[in-house]
Amino acid sequence: LLHVGFRQSYFENGTPTSEPDSTILKENATLVFLARNSELKGVISSMRGLESRFNHRYRYPWVFLNDEEFTNEFKGSVLLETDAPVHFGLIPKEHWDQPAWIDEEKAQKSRQRLKEQNIIYGDSASYRNMCRFNSGYFFHHPLLQQFRYYWRVEPDVKYFCDMNYDPFQFMKGRNQTYGFTIALYETPQTVTTLWDTVREFMIKYPQYIANDNALDFISSDGGKTYNMCHFWSNFEIADMDFWRSEAYQTFFQFLDLKGGFYYERWGDAPVHSIAAALLLPKRNIHYFQDIGYQHSIYQHCPSSEESMGNSCSCHRWNSFDHHKQSCLPLYKNMKSNNKIIP
Ligand code: GDP
Ligand code: MN
Repeated sequence: LLHVGFRQSYFENGTPTSEPDSTILKENATLVFLARNSELKGVISSMRGLESRFNHRYRYPWVFLNDEEFTNEFKGSVLLETDAPVHFGLIPKEHWDQPAWIDEEKAQKSRQRLKEQNIIYGDSASYRNMCRFNSGYFFHHPLLQQFRYYWRVEPDVKYFCDMNYDPFQFMKGRNQTYGFTIALYETPQTVTTLWDTVREFMIKYPQYIANDNALDFISSDGGKTYNMCHFWSNFEIADMDFWRSEAYQTFFQFLDLKGGFYYERWGDAPVHSIAAALLLPKRNIHYFQDIGYQHSIYQHCPSSEESMGNSCSCHRWNSFDHHKQSCLPLYKNMKSNNKIIP
């Protein structure tokens, strides 16, 4: 079904307009985009989508980050796509590079092992830097210090729905901390010892574990094992104050020192998800069921009940939500506190 409706959101006082409304109250928020110069085409595509579905009305600033200097071509092209402020930042080497205390021989063996197992990005050292950066460092970047909420954007993603409200305002107003659209299972070989590490952390720092947490989303046996569920972090609308909190900082440092970002291939998605599930009360996690979104082969397309009046140009039957690889049923069960019927 092609969902069309609620064009009213584009009209001010009955007059059609595409002008940004300067009277709109804005939150302290930004659109964060980590990218390489070589990804310019995909960057422009994602930007166009988010600008036309949402940001042309709000003009939230964009922050682009890269471990290398952005080229003039990249910066010039990006600036043409928005009326909002745009910042370009270089990532400090100490936030990106493999730390000196990592045993490179051991890391190299891990890359070889995962490559032999045909694990995606298994042999990539830079992918591991990226995952560690997104887990523990992006929110420390100088350009992001002034902001609290962020919306993470990646190259070549699609947004299917016209947003008829401001998700940042929603996050603030409803006291939400972490928002997602797609939840799925991780490749187990990339996180072999991650759960053992998390269990160690829970025993050492019980004070950081939230009472009404979302453990049942990430573990199906009360915490004995990790069920591989995670929020797909290429889309995130979240509160950076959480990542900057003592609880998360301690969590990240604990994980980082185990070396699993390099000795395995721990992703920022499971790391963020496990942290959100354990350190936050589950009521602070929000499923943006109304935001249609596609990254690579998976998409979430809101049903008419889910779309909250946002008009979407996607097909419900392409939605990943009922796919067997989706963790959404587990998430919903966890939220409603129902035990899953075996
Ligand atoms: P996937 O989504 O897991 O398949 O991985 P991507 O290739 O999309 O990478 C995730 C994000 O990190 C994207 O925004 C990429 O542009 C970015 N990224 C990945 N590797 C690098 C890198 O080496 N340098 C920079 N600057 N960005 C990177
Ligand atoms: Mn991607």
